[in-house]
Amino acid sequence: MDVILNSGGLDSAVVLSLVTSMQPHKQNILAVNFIYSQQNSRGVASAKKIADYYKVEYVSQELDLSWPQMQTLDTFGKPRKLLKLRNLVFVANLIPIIAEFDSVRIWGGWNADDFNYPDAQVGFLNALQKTFQAGEPSWDVQIMAPWLYLTKNEIVGIGLKLQTPFQLTWSCHNKIDKPCGTCDSCIQRNKAFASYNLVDPLIKEDN
Ligand SMILES: [Zn+2]
Repeated sequence: MDVILNSGGLDSAVVLSLVTSMQPHKQNILAVNFIYSQQNSRGVASAKKIADYYKVEYVSQELDLSWPQMQTLDTFGKPRKLLKLRNLVFVANLIPIIAEFDSVRIWGGWNADDFNYPDAQVGFLNALQKTFQAGEPSWDVQIMAPWLYLTKNEIVGIGLKLQTPFQLTWSCHNKIDKPCGTCDSCIQRNKAFASYNLVDPLIKEDN
C-alpha cells in the first residue's frame, strides 16, 4: 500500500504524480488529508480534487491540533507559528488507517525548502522509520521522502514532466479565493514557476 500525506499543496501533489506514474493501474494508493487548524478550506478541497484527478482512494480526517504553537521563522525570515512535531502527529494518526496492511510506504512532500522545520529533516524521518522497526518489527513500514534534498523549483520541474495538475493545488496560508502572493508559500511557489518562465496556473487562470 502506498499512502501519501496529501495536503492539497504542490509538493504532495507531485508526490502523488510520481507514485501514480509508477503504478499505471493506480491500485493500493491512498491519499490522506489531515484537516487541522493551520490548513485552510481551499487546501482541504484541493487535496480531494487532486486525489479525484488521479482516481485514487482518499481519506480525510480531522485532527485536534489546538495545543500551543511555537514561533519560528519562515524561509524569508518572517515569523510563523508552527505546530510542534506536526509530522509525528500525522504519521501516528495514519496508524489506524494503515494497520490492516502488511506492507506500507508512507510518502510525504518534505523538501529542502523545509529547512526551518526540524520534523521534516532526514534525522527525524530516519528516527521515525526506526520507531516503526523498533515498535513493530514484523511490520514493513517505510517512510518515503523523494523530495528531501530538492528545492521547490526542482519539484515544480518534476511536476511539469509528470504533468501534475498544478491548477488543482493550493499553497496559500492566507486566502481561499486567490493566492495572496505575499505569504511564505505563495512567494516560494511563484519563484518556482518563474524559474521556468511560467506563471502559477492559479494566478493565470484567475481562479
Ligand atoms: Zn499566500
